Amino acid sequence: MGQITMFKPVLLASIISVMFFSSINSVAFADDTLDVGILHNQANTHLLNGELHLALELYDKILDISPNNIDAMIMKGITLGNLDRHKQSMKEFYNALEQEPKNIHALLGMGVGFGNYGEYKEAYKYFESAYVLNPENHVVNNYKNFAKNVVDKYPYHEVEKPEIFTIDIIEKVPAWVKNNAGWWANGEIDDTSFISGIQFLVKNNIIKLDSTEIQNNKSNDIPAWVKNNAGWWANGEIDDTEFLTSMHFLIKNGIIVIEHPDTMELTEQEKKNADRNKWQFARYLDRIEKRVYDDKRYIEYPNPSNDVIKKFLRDYAKWNFEQQIQIGNKNFPNPEYFLMDGIYHLEYKIYVNEQPSGLPLDHVGTLINSFKYWEAEEFNANDGNVVKIHFVTTKSKADANLWVTWVVRDIGENVLGHANLGKGVIEVALGGYGCDGNFQLFNVDTVETIMTHELGHGIGLTHSTNIDSIMYPTMKKTTYAYCLLDVMD
Ligand SMILES: [Zn+2]
Repeated sequence: MGQITMFKPVLLASIISVMFFSSINSVAFADDTLDVGILHNQANTHLLNGELHLALELYDKILDISPNNIDAMIMKGITLGNLDRHKQSMKEFYNALEQEPKNIHALLGMGVGFGNYGEYKEAYKYFESAYVLNPENHVVNNYKNFAKNVVDKYPYHEVEKPEIFTIDIIEKVPAWVKNNAGWWANGEIDDTSFISGIQFLVKNNIIKLDSTEIQNNKSNDIPAWVKNNAGWWANGEIDDTEFLTSMHFLIKNGIIVIEHPDTMELTEQEKKNADRNKWQFARYLDRIEKRVYDDKRYIEYPNPSNDVIKKFLRDYAKWNFEQQIQIGNKNFPNPEYFLMDGIYHLEYKIYVNEQPSGLPLDHVGTLINSFKYWEAEEFNANDGNVVKIHFVTTKSKADANLWVTWVVRDIGENVLGHANLGKGVIEVALGGYGCDGNFQLFNVDTVETIMTHELGHGIGLTHSTNIDSIMYPTMKKTTYAYCLLDVMD
């Protein structure tokens, strides 16, 4: 059959690739200290290069200079996780959560940590907390779905948690604050003890205050009616919301004077409790580790990226069309076409390669979207007629104009996919090293975008200089399915 020409006079056999930008700086660093800022940059560069031990040294250095640096704790936790040092990693996330109970990276990191030990219910709690804070995020959703599935799938003996375990985000008023209020109303304890309870509520965001709302009036006496209020609350005559609202009002108007939450020093007792909880948490992790060993617990890892690599390596030649793409497309048949009502209909037969079984994300399912994308477009043939593209799948490699496959091998630094031009092979990467230096699977939407781009080459399109075009040679944003650094707050 003859050949129609659409975009180029001949169908070229060339290898086209698409590049992407790395995105390590998704965690915002807000350090004033120049040294610390420089160290962060150096450490992150090492991490992205996969030089985990060098990165670790620098995060430790930052924590020596600035022991409460949350970003360094998070990054150290992630680095340790990538080194499979999950216990140490979780201790870093624990420290971060002590300071910032709603830190989404730390919540996810903790969930991943528990998941890596097969403590799925505990993992689920953390993913759930992260979900409440950021329900739209794809990484949060992927982890939450993971935990939901495995909790039902694998029954296990949950390891006993420490009695005093305050890692959960405090949502409700603790009983001791209410007891204090009752005793204070009865004159059994003094004002200072009552106020320490209120202070606790402010610090833990149970009474939500802007720093500007806190007055510094020097009113020494708390009016008697506040005491009545506290008594009613302790007796259950008014509910938490009512009491908290009245406390909020009193603080705002300087009737109850509290310290600014950011400058609140921990009391000796609070420091002791914090140390004890930290110690308890470490013992808890030891018990978990022992149980995993004793029970010979089978574990499905929350981040499946490494398992996916192993699956692809087991039967290398089956998933990779590396050789064929080098040979080029000259032995592939040209797509058939027919002219109807002044429109050329060009039919591409596509051979869709198999995938290893049990992959965590469905990338094959999104191929139809890439087909639809190009089927909706109209092109111009040299004779002035319109060209429409149609895709049909075929089981026969010999009949196919295009072979489509998904790969995880290194297809070149920062390369997302390959395609022969006009016909031949299309290879799309399922992941890369651009998030945290470890191999990380892309999220399905990224794989779909790469596929649509490469399929564009497959039907003969070259790169566009228009940055908004799908055929622009670089991708503005690649999203990773399970990389903790891919979470935007
Ligand atoms: Zn390209």
